[in-house]
Amino acid sequence: MEEGFVRARFSNYYSRAYPSPPPSASSREWGFGGWEKKIESRHSRFNSGEELVAYLRRNAPLYVSYSSAYYEFPDARPMERKNWLGADLIFDIDADQLNPPCIEKHGKGWVCDTCLGMAKNETIKLVEEFLLGEFGFNRDNLHLNFSGNRGYHIHVIDDEVKPLTSPQRREITDYITGKGLEGKYFFFERGGRWEGPKKSDSGWGGRLARGFIEMVKGKKLERILKPSTSKRFYKNESEVIAGVERGNWDVVGLGSSHKSYEDTWERLGQELGVKLGDNIDQNVTFDTSKLIRMPDSLHGETGLLAKRTSSLEKFDPLKDSVVFGKSPIKLKIEKAPEIRIWDETFGPYENFEGELPEAVAVYLICKRRAKLV
Ligand SMILES: [Zn+2]
Repeated sequence: MEEGFVRARFSNYYSRAYPSPPPSASSREWGFGGWEKKIESRHSRFNSGEELVAYLRRNAPLYVSYSSAYYEFPDARPMERKNWLGADLIFDIDADQLNPPCIEKHGKGWVCDTCLGMAKNETIKLVEEFLLGEFGFNRDNLHLNFSGNRGYHIHVIDDEVKPLTSPQRREITDYITGKGLEGKYFFFERGGRWEGPKKSDSGWGGRLARGFIEMVKGKKLERILKPSTSKRFYKNESEVIAGVERGNWDVVGLGSSHKSYEDTWERLGQELGVKLGDNIDQNVTFDTSKLIRMPDSLHGETGLLAKRTSSLEKFDPLKDSVVFGKSPIKLKIEKAPEIRIWDETFGPYENFEGELPEAVAVYLICKRRAKLV
């Protein structure tokens, strides 16, 4: 009964919406999901955007995904016969991977303003600091969208990234996440004194210096150093900061124990890099055979739109991605954490029976927390 309810709502949405297909839609492999699985069928192709939209109207799939890769024969099988022609560069930022403090309250797989805010900040960092700031991509070639559930997707659609191989894509993720950062490339001895990156340096050097200074100021060094060492730096705060700003890391006491700091830089790298989650979730970046949610399609686990946005700062996923209305739907809820939709908070619920607005009902039913009465 619940599946039929959701499908009818999705069908109604697609009959009035016209989601714009991605560039080169006919060179991509498409996949669709239903009530049981996010990808129930794949290896589909469409000759045009119109054909795709007609399919969405006819079938109202609960999940719509396509390949970041472009193929000569997107519907051929097995994969090798598709003839890979290149791929967009995709990043997936998921609130669950950021270890938000609120997870203890609402559990994995649920969201609130805190963790969605963290995912948004992480996305802004990736876009502004790395993709635009360091990689020098053109803003017009970065396409951002809410994932429809717990985070954000970034699609770099640029001829320069298309031919990148899987190992090359992995190197990009390593750089962005600060994985495998080695102190020996940043610090050296000169005239009996340890020198290192300055605050004004570009790339990871400057990021390490600025990050270290921020951690001294914010008394957060314990994240990367022993408490006793951290306290020593707090005590000499102004001297430490003045030194690091100029690249004089002797003030940090690096001189005698350079080796013992190796792990510290790796930890600092992880603090300052973008948190893209574990390897499984990074796969979407370097495994170009994966399918990604189509922007502006509905997400079957929430009923929210995987909405495109060009101004992330102002974007409010629990408001801007809501497409269903307020007509009352009668529901039964055994247990569900609270959720904000629009400017209103609903729940938490325990043994609730009553009416809720359609958009909230769709959300809770898709999350398998509510049943129709
Ligand atoms: Zn949360």
